[in-house]
Amino acid sequence: MRHITIIGAGQSGLLLGIGLLKAGYRVTIVSNRTGEEIASGRITSSQCMFDMALEVERRLDVDFWHDDCPDIEGIGFILPDPAGGKALDWAYRLDRPARSVDQRVKMPRFMQAFEDLGGALVIHDAELADLDRYRAASDLVIVASGKGEIGRLFERDAEKSAFDKPMRALGLTYVHGMEPHRPFSRVSFNLIPGVGEYFVFPALTHSGPCEIMVFEGIPGGPMDCWGDVKTPAEHLARSKWILDSFVPWEAERCRHIELTDGLGTLSGRFAPTIRKPVAHLPSGAAVMGMADALVLNDPITGQGSNNAAKCANIFLQEILAHGDRPYDEAWMQRTFDRYWDYARWVVGWTNGLLLPPPEHVVRLLQAAQGSPAVGRAIANGFNDPTSFFPWFADPQAADRFLAQEAAAA
Ligand SMILES: Cc1cc2nc3c(=O)[nH]c(=O)nc-3n(C[C@H](O)[C@H](O)[C@H](O)COP(=O)(O)OP(=O)(O)OC[C@H]3O[C@@H](n4cnc5c(N)ncnc54)[C@H](O)[C@@H]3O)c2cc1C
Repeated sequence: MRHITIIGAGQSGLLLGIGLLKAGYRVTIVSNRTGEEIASGRITSSQCMFDMALEVERRLDVDFWHDDCPDIEGIGFILPDPAGGKALDWAYRLDRPARSVDQRVKMPRFMQAFEDLGGALVIHDAELADLDRYRAASDLVIVASGKGEIGRLFERDAEKSAFDKPMRALGLTYVHGMEPHRPFSRVSFNLIPGVGEYFVFPALTHSGPCEIMVFEGIPGGPMDCWGDVKTPAEHLARSKWILDSFVPWEAERCRHIELTDGLGTLSGRFAPTIRKPVAHLPSGAAVMGMADALVLNDPITGQGSNNAAKCANIFLQEILAHGDRPYDEAWMQRTFDRYWDYARWVVGWTNGLLLPPPEHVVRLLQAAQGSPAVGRAIANGFNDPTSFFPWFADPQAADRFLAQEAAAA
């Protein structure tokens, strides 16, 4: 029986581990936190996942929150105008709902499912020196450590990495008591020129349904404002201050909000980074990375957990298709390349949104105000970002797309 060791019990590592166990492989997952520690710890993400990624979980029989997690039924977009009103305000339904289950709820349950299937869960903060030992004891070692330090083992790919510094100051606030959007729930995305972005959507946490507020502040701007925040109450007050200052229509929904819990806040920043997929250990043996360890995006488009599930799915298929042959470096590179064929579109779209929008993107967003076909294409692009191309990146293709949608209307 082939033995695969995965470093990191997160969105990608656990899905891959569960998939491999179901296919009869022997799997060890090394996690630097127990399920209890994750459950009782700080929030880590806003983890909104769209249908294609949710389908990966459904196929692995780990959609444990189907009846409890609120649906996110659409995507809304608001562009404030300089006078304090709205230059654009539209919302369209997704073809299939998105969902967000707090990773503090999800990962411990996935860990339990992994162990129930016979997986070995080792609690240890893996270091470089450990990897040779894991490699000697397994046919393949995959590093799925997210933003963990150990991922620096993989060389940064300067050609594929568009930025070398954080592009947003991030803030997360989990709350109860927000007024819901009507007539359908949505990711309500506010693009505040020169300030950053604020988006908010329903989710499920320990204490039931909640809303997750995500703040993406341009570094040095007024929404880059978490440095002096010391307590959860100050974090909530600062979140409300941002809404009052820049998106008063969102503040209106928040008159009665309170934090879900004392660890329902997060702030920080990181540089979006692409890394090379194969690294060599001191012994010379090769290990490969996956998901955020290799392709780390800013959360502005809410794609990291989606990518992690899709990456796990591709790696699972490639491992199964490889049969009994050795996992050599060529196979590792090919496996990553297959993921990159998808992920590069997500990276291109995400990085595009971190810069001031070019004129043709503004035209697309404006067109969505009057054209349900354009609006639905943009909304459903969050599920499959490859569908944004070529029109998101190319002004002429955008013109053709808009003309075609206008003719069809
Ligand atoms: C503010 C914010 C908002 C976000 N919002 C969204 C969103 O709305 N939608 C979306 O799709 N994505 C979102 N993401 C991204 C998403 O959370 C990640 O992309 C996703 O969790 C990555 O999965 P992963 O498996 O690569 O890593 P993770 O899920 O981070 O898992 C890595 C695991 O490895 C463990 N680990 C690290 N180092 C070691 C070690 N040395 N030894 C053992 N274990 C180790 C970690 O503790 C962790 O449990 C957001 C991220 C942030 C920061």
